Amino acid sequence: MTKVNTNYLKLSSNYLFVDIARKVEAFKQEHPDRKIIRLGIGDVTQPLVKTVIAALHDAVNEMGDPATFRGYGPEQGYAFLREAICAHDYAGLPISPDDIFVSDGAKSDLGNFQELFSEDSVVAVTDPVYPVYVDSNVMAGRAGDLFDVTWSRICYLPCTKENNFVPELPSVRPDLIYLCYPNNPTGTVLSKDELRVWVDYAVREGCIILYDSAYEAYIQEEGVAHSIYEIEGADEVAVEFRSFSKTAGFTGLRCAYTVVPEKLTVSDGRGGKVGLRNLWNRRQSTKYNGCPYIVQRAACAVYTEAGQREIAETIAIYHENARKLSEAVKGMGLSVFGGVNAPYIWVGVPDGQTSWDFFNHLLTDAALVCTPGVGFGKSGEGYVRLTAFGSPKDTEEAIERLRQL
Ligand code: PLP
Repeated sequence: MTKVNTNYLKLSSNYLFVDIARKVEAFKQEHPDRKIIRLGIGDVTQPLVKTVIAALHDAVNEMGDPATFRGYGPEQGYAFLREAICAHDYAGLPISPDDIFVSDGAKSDLGNFQELFSEDSVVAVTDPVYPVYVDSNVMAGRAGDLFDVTWSRICYLPCTKENNFVPELPSVRPDLIYLCYPNNPTGTVLSKDELRVWVDYAVREGCIILYDSAYEAYIQEEGVAHSIYEIEGADEVAVEFRSFSKTAGFTGLRCAYTVVPEKLTVSDGRGGKVGLRNLWNRRQSTKYNGCPYIVQRAACAVYTEAGQREIAETIAIYHENARKLSEAVKGMGLSVFGGVNAPYIWVGVPDGQTSWDFFNHLLTDAALVCTPGVGFGKSGEGYVRLTAFGSPKDTEEAIERLRQL
């Protein structure tokens, strides 16, 4: 009989959001009249901006005209978009349009990129963590065995209020280091100096940093790097993942990009070096046929003057939600982190309660859904994540319910 990839059998069947959905469904059955407000899942609520919609319509019309119809596009993305990304997001940095690979999402790129590395590579992740980094390495057989909520071969870098959510360098050298800033789930950031420590470490130790900056557009404060390539030497050790999902409301439309600088090399296992950009290009050309033309036109419209103004207005709505939510939670006497340079608010639960206790409390007593921090890793115990992606009206109502708790 055909045998399965047994690594898949190791994956936890209790996927966090499935557990949450089950509890919410049970609550709904018991209280059919109560309106539930979701401060849990990280999807946006504001529609695509006008300039993006216009670009979509234009591109659809092009597809209906034999003179402008497009079939398969370049697997790496159209030059018009790669050039716009480079000019806007990487001006003055050592990145060229050839280093940019457009795709249908950062989730797939983050999940796929690990394929380029040896099966015995040691992986480090911050804890708590966006689950895709760990699960994709479990599927590839790199994670070892699961004990409670930790994998035996994964190197966890705890981020808690005790270390101000700044991970310490690992005691044993990993091959791959996943960093996500602004962070999901904690909403915290690293200063440029704190990020430099990681780039210098990777240069010194010969590691690769997989830098997820899906929430870059939410950075408001000075001194926080918008790209890891602002740090000298990063183009020799880091891959950067960005997405239009949270920047411009593309969670349903799907467009993202991954930056693989030409200088980035790894060992070929025979005493030589091999460039990651060529390998990623080879991988994408073989397994991917490109993001849709109309979507790439829509993404390109984000970089116009009007597009930039409009997405800034949408992001300002989420920032304002985050600010008000943070204030309300502080008013409950709880500790609050993040929420300034990110759409996520990381809340310390009251003493003596677990993440799930507090989740149950908010659901039962206020019909509010949050995400229990322990679902993101062991160091997430004692916290819950709230998101600012709700509509302003729902967020106001959620705040009112929190006040009355
Ligand atoms: N990276 C992080 C940290 C995320 O939170 C998310 C989505 O929630 C993604 C990547 C996925 O982005 P995309 O919608 O481009 O697949």
